[in-house]
Formats: sequence, structure tokens, C-alpha cells
Amino acid sequence: MNENELIAKVERKIKLWFFERQHQIGSQIVLNFMELLGTNNSVDFYELEKKCNNLKTFKENFTQLSGKGEKNHAKIFEKDQSTITLWKPIDNIVRTEYQNYKKTYFKPVIIANITYNPTGWRNLYINPKANHSYATEFPGHESLNFKFDKKNIDTNKNIFGYVQWTSKPTKLKKGGTVIFYSKNTNTRKGEIVGIYCETEVLKDYITEKWKGFENDKIVFNLKAKKKLSMLFPIPLNADKYKTDQNKRLVGQIGFSYYENDIAINVVKDELKELSKSGLQKNEFEKLNKIYSFLSGKIFNNGLLDIDLTEQDELIDILPSDKKQIIYDLDNLKETEPETIVVKQKTYKRDNKTIAQIKILRDFKCQICDTKIKKEKGGFYIEAAHIKPKNLKGRETPENILILCPNHHKEFDYGARKIIEHTKNFIRFNLNEKEYNLTLKIE
Ligand SMILES: [Zn+2]
Repeated sequence: MNENELIAKVERKIKLWFFERQHQIGSQIVLNFMELLGTNNSVDFYELEKKCNNLKTFKENFTQLSGKGEKNHAKIFEKDQSTITLWKPIDNIVRTEYQNYKKTYFKPVIIANITYNPTGWRNLYINPKANHSYATEFPGHESLNFKFDKKNIDTNKNIFGYVQWTSKPTKLKKGGTVIFYSKNTNTRKGEIVGIYCETEVLKDYITEKWKGFENDKIVFNLKAKKKLSMLFPIPLNADKYKTDQNKRLVGQIGFSYYENDIAINVVKDELKELSKSGLQKNEFEKLNKIYSFLSGKIFNNGLLDIDLTEQDELIDILPSDKKQIIYDLDNLKETEPETIVVKQKTYKRDNKTIAQIKILRDFKCQICDTKIKKEKGGFYIEAAHIKPKNLKGRETPENILILCPNHHKEFDYGARKIIEHTKNFIRFNLNEKEYNLTLKIE
């Protein structure tokens, strides 16, 4: 390909990378590169590699973006040893388009203060401990911020809300993100309780008849996209987002400006909480859409099994000394408390037992020896109950087999007949094959 053809290829593809196909690996590399580049002229290859460590085929894709071959992606990069620059002839095109991208995706964010509502904004509440006098006699107007079907107010597309301020957050005019902060008046701790995206500050406040509020009127000053706005099912500890520069997350006038990054982090943390709780599937999916909207990425952890998460954490912190494990398992008593504390954190005792059996069995399927290595370190393996949990099967070594996902499912759903089951082994027939597996702690 000659130079003009190569340039034309970049021009054709650039909009796709930045605006339509951000999930593709090539796009992610270019976006990460541009973020690192800032106003500099070059980026260190290893820095880029580090930033792209979640992209499985980073090296192959990077090579494709640096070559001039017919079948390559468009040529973007020039690599000289470990220094990467934008390929000179397209330098301007890429920088200009990246600026457009930033204007589109990086919108202003505010963290705004709302009066605490101990019912989680599900009911009207007058808070006698509120800081603002307007909220000590009547419910604060923000009581309705997370009611998503306010009759005669909300539409299919939009939700209306309210934040108290002394001067408007004018930068939000173009549609940014509002993160709602509230000080829990019981625990005296700051919490992040919800989010609005594509928010518009209303030019004039909307006042509507609404019984119970001051003068039986309710006030709204924000309008946001309904499908990109939500109450967090699990409030987040706000202290986490404080830095030395911002000892107070929210300013005197009711809000403070932040960068898009903080919104992405808040949403990601809430996704992790929901994923650990494993219960709020619909909310998880809605929040994942918000995450994609803010970051251009998908949070692909999915819903995690809380027990599995605990077991993995325990595998990392428990001593892997087998003698100790054997001693613990041999001395396991049914009368022990159901929870244990390891490194100042509480876990289910059963998860400790399973974690220890996994270590003892070396994370291998007891039927086929499969050991599944995980990209981020460690191994994936499952624990099957011989007597199912719902029939009061216990987490004790004589009731647990360590199996790969296929054999676990076969064990649970296949035609199974137990021939002999003692403290030390189990002999069974599964889909017409006979197995003899150890249950011994040694
Ligand atoms: Zn297996």
C-alpha cells in the first residue's frame, strides 16, 4: 500500500474506532494510547502494554496497527525501540478526532449533596437532623429524586430531580453526570447513593402541586435520562473518593465539579458490590449500561457467586501449608461458629473449609485431573456436594469432591448411583462409568 492509501484507510476507520466500535481491541489500544499521550509526542511501549493488560491479544493487535501491510488494520503507530509515536502523516487526523471524542464522551460531573433519607428515598421523610432548615419541617424535594414514575412529571425518557444549590452548576448545561452524595445522619458517614446521566440543569425551576411538601408544592431543577439514572441498591462509602486535594467531596454550595473518571470509578465500585451480593440482576444490568455509556467499555465480570469470591480471597490469604490444613480439617467441629475472621474480615466458615480442600486437592478435578489456570493468577475449580446442600449436606471433607465444571454438572445431573461412601473414599457409578475417589485428608 502506498502512503495515500494508508492515510485514506485511517480516515475511513477513525470514526469507527472512536465512536462506534470502542469495544474492539484495536479501538481500546488507540484510546489508551491517546489517553497516555495527552499533549506529549510519544508514549513508552511498556506503559501502553501495562494499560492494555486486560486485552488478551494486545501484542498482535498493536503490531497490526503499526504495519503497512495490505491486510493490516490502518497504520496508526510508529515504533522505535520502546518509543511509540503517532505515524506522522495521520498525527493530526487522530488528534483532532480524539478531541471530538473527548467532547462527546467526557462530560462534566458533579457530586451533589442531598439530605439523608433513612428509608433509602423509597418514602417521604422529614429529617429533623437535616442541615438545611427547609428539610427539617417538610420533606426535602430530593425525596422524589429516585421515584422513576412521578405522575404528570416524568416521561418515558426523562426523570426530574432536585438538588439544593446557591448558584447553578452551569457547566452541566450540556448534559453531564450527577452523583448524589448524602451524609447518613445515623452513622455520620458520607455515602454515594445514586446517579443521573445526561443531566440538564433546567433554566427555570419546575413547580408542581404535590401534597405534603412546603405549600403543597414540589420543585425540580434537574432533568436526566431515565434509563441512565438510578438509585444505588447498595450505598457506597464516600470516603473512598476523597483525596488530599478534596478533603470535602461536596462544596458549600451543594455540589463540586469532578472529572469523568470519578463517575466511572463510582459506577464500577457499585457494580462490584452488586456482583458480590449476586441478588440485584436487573439493577446490575442497568448499571452496566450506565458504565458502558460513561466509559465506552463493558464491565464483564458478570454476576459473581459470593461464595466463590470468598473462597478465592481465602485461597490467597490462608496459609497453604498442607500440614496445617490437614490439622484444621481433621479437627473441624460442627459446633464451631458459622463465621470466622481472617485478616480482620469475616468469612463463612464453610468457605474456609472449601478453600482448604481446594488447596489440598491442588485445584485439580478428581475425575479427570483438569486444572484451569486463570489469566489473573490462581486456578478455577468447583466444589461438588455429595449430599446436596439443600438436603443438609455439609461442608466437610467427606461430603466434598473437587471437580471441573463439566464433571461437576455431570455429577449433579447425570445418572448416579453411590455404591460405597465412607469417611475416606466414595465409589459410585456415573452415566455407566464407575469411579473411586478419595475423600481422605492427607
Ligand atoms: Zn473433570
